[in-house]
Amino acid sequence: MEDRVLVTDIQRFAVNDGPGFRTNVFLKGCPMNCAWCHNPETKAPRPELYWKKKLCTQCGSCLDACPEGAVNAPVPVEEAAGEGSLYHKIMRSRCTGCMKCVQACRFGALEIAGRPMSTGEILDEVEKDRPFYANSGGGMTVSGGEPAAQGEFTYLLLAEARERDLHTCLDTSGLCDFSLLKALAGQSDIVLFDLKHLDGQVHKAFTGMDNRLILNNLVRLSRTGCALWVRIPVVPGFNDSHEFHRAAALFLSNLPRPVVRVDLLPFHNWCQDKYSWLGIDWIYRDADSLDPAFLELPADLYRERGLAVTIGGSGFEGYGGRAPGRPADAGCREM
Ligand code: SF4
Ligand code: SF4
Repeated sequence: MEDRVLVTDIQRFAVNDGPGFRTNVFLKGCPMNCAWCHNPETKAPRPELYWKKKLCTQCGSCLDACPEGAVNAPVPVEEAAGEGSLYHKIMRSRCTGCMKCVQACRFGALEIAGRPMSTGEILDEVEKDRPFYANSGGGMTVSGGEPAAQGEFTYLLLAEARERDLHTCLDTSGLCDFSLLKALAGQSDIVLFDLKHLDGQVHKAFTGMDNRLILNNLVRLSRTGCALWVRIPVVPGFNDSHEFHRAAALFLSNLPRPVVRVDLLPFHNWCQDKYSWLGIDWIYRDADSLDPAFLELPADLYRERGLAVTIGGSGFEGYGGRAPGRPADAGCREM
């Protein structure tokens, strides 16, 4: 096992990814390829380059520094930065990730997405937020990417967090071997489980992966009595129909044990810049963010089935993370 994994961000004071104030740790690497992904920099399991065209002066230092011929020659700033410009500084297919160009850039236009960190380094960073956890019921949320893609590392990270008496959430797509998922859940207080679509073909068309393992894992994890918050990213043209939400509410209400709550997470386009920095032509580039008010009617479909539901996933709404029928401090541990 690697004693370090790539972390793209440690985000402080998040309120939508578990109860209270959360410190979100984003691990890099994901087996899925969701078309709407809000964190495109977490998909690839290797360091990547951001090129921020608004900061680039086209000085050419990166061209001189690159040993692989992976940097495009400078063009006038207006030409590169103009609306609709197809110019991109980096030829990704040639780039080996040596990062010499980052060191050469004096204008902060090149940045590395993904730095290697050990469990201790991550937790020392997380612990800086400990004063904010006590009154809010917050803690660390391990996200991604897919944390299970770094299964052994994530297990150790959660176990060490437990030793430090930190509240933990595991944010997962559920796409992994069940024994691994159960082990990770067993080291977590709450599992935030993504449900994307019930139709296998639609799921595969938008994520690149079949959903049978995911749905099976959700059923099996529910059977353990784990504290489950099911999170549904609601994406235009994918799963924003009432038919989908009606079926999802039925499916979730029929799980072996009740989920703690369901979070409907409206699609947003705030990640447009990240796609641009990575040189990816995002198919949702021109799509508007989904108005949360649009989700009021779908939310009622879950409430009608007796499910607690939030729009946006604020950790201050609904339950504090306790699975019905389980001790308040048990969470998913000691299953
Ligand atoms: S070194 Fe930086 S500012 Fe200069 S051309 Fe390269 S990315 Fe742009
Ligand atoms: S990371 Fe290395 S190979 Fe890639 S563009 Fe920069 S200097 Fe070239």
